[in-house]
Amino acid sequence: MEKKQVGAHQIVHLVDGGYRFSDYMEQSEELLRTYSCLSQRQIGESVLGRPIHAWIIGEGKELLHINAAVHANEWITAPLLLRFIEGMAAEYELMQKNAHKIAVCAVPMVNPDGVDLAQNGIAKGYTDQEREQLISWNGGSSNFSRWKANIRGVDLNDQFPAFWEEERDRRGRKGPAWQDYSGPHPLSEPEAIALVELARKWNFSRVMSLHTQGREIYWNYREMEPQQAEVMANQLAEAGGYRAVKLSGSDAGYKDWYIQEFRRPGFTVEAGEGVNPLPAEQFDEIYEELSLIMGKFVLGEYAG
Ligand SMILES: [Zn+2]
Repeated sequence: MEKKQVGAHQIVHLVDGGYRFSDYMEQSEELLRTYSCLSQRQIGESVLGRPIHAWIIGEGKELLHINAAVHANEWITAPLLLRFIEGMAAEYELMQKNAHKIAVCAVPMVNPDGVDLAQNGIAKGYTDQEREQLISWNGGSSNFSRWKANIRGVDLNDQFPAFWEEERDRRGRKGPAWQDYSGPHPLSEPEAIALVELARKWNFSRVMSLHTQGREIYWNYREMEPQQAEVMANQLAEAGGYRAVKLSGSDAGYKDWYIQEFRRPGFTVEAGEGVNPLPAEQFDEIYEELSLIMGKFVLGEYAG
């Protein structure tokens, strides 16, 4: 078998400085054609009916989870995670040797409708009424580059049943908007439901959710996190030169819910530094640090 050099030919790459759902789909097909160790399954669909995929690599019994592009204008996290999956596939023998006990289940694009809206704006296919509604939810602007929410104007990382009401009241947003609206109730959105059902079904031993930006790692939730979470966060941060940060005054995020429900380690990684959406030129630089963090997350022994 010909061994592929990482970095020699990379299937996962930005397209015209962006990463839309169609780019993801095209590169997905090429990844699946190239690497037999990769498999993909649909775990749900977005409001507009786009498939949400989980990628699986590894044959171990212990399942780890990483997700990305929960926030629309943080779409760069989708190719960052998919590139990492490609890297693991290219070095599958090495992964089997060092991480034979685990398997990784990754969801690179949780919010495909938002990812496309943030990059393409209102493309064809929307009615005049839908267009007017989206512009109004976007504060009157037809520039959607800062849009974080899903297509119904719900912030997916405020959707999870972990002190959801407190987060809603803290944000104070009464209806759909480009950011900060928690939805009519927890798990009102199919994209958030897909993540919850996945975690309940697969019983992950630890999870990581990729966002931008700040080069920080959040690891705690209302004292419900397990003891080793802080040690792990420090090791992850050290691997990539990020800071591990103890947060308070934040609820209803994916990692908050995961920690509360499973009492296992859950991390939010704020990749890169700058203003969202982070510029495409930073992709390689961000990947360099983030891949070390994800690598540690996957391979780490976490003694202590
Ligand atoms: Zn985010």
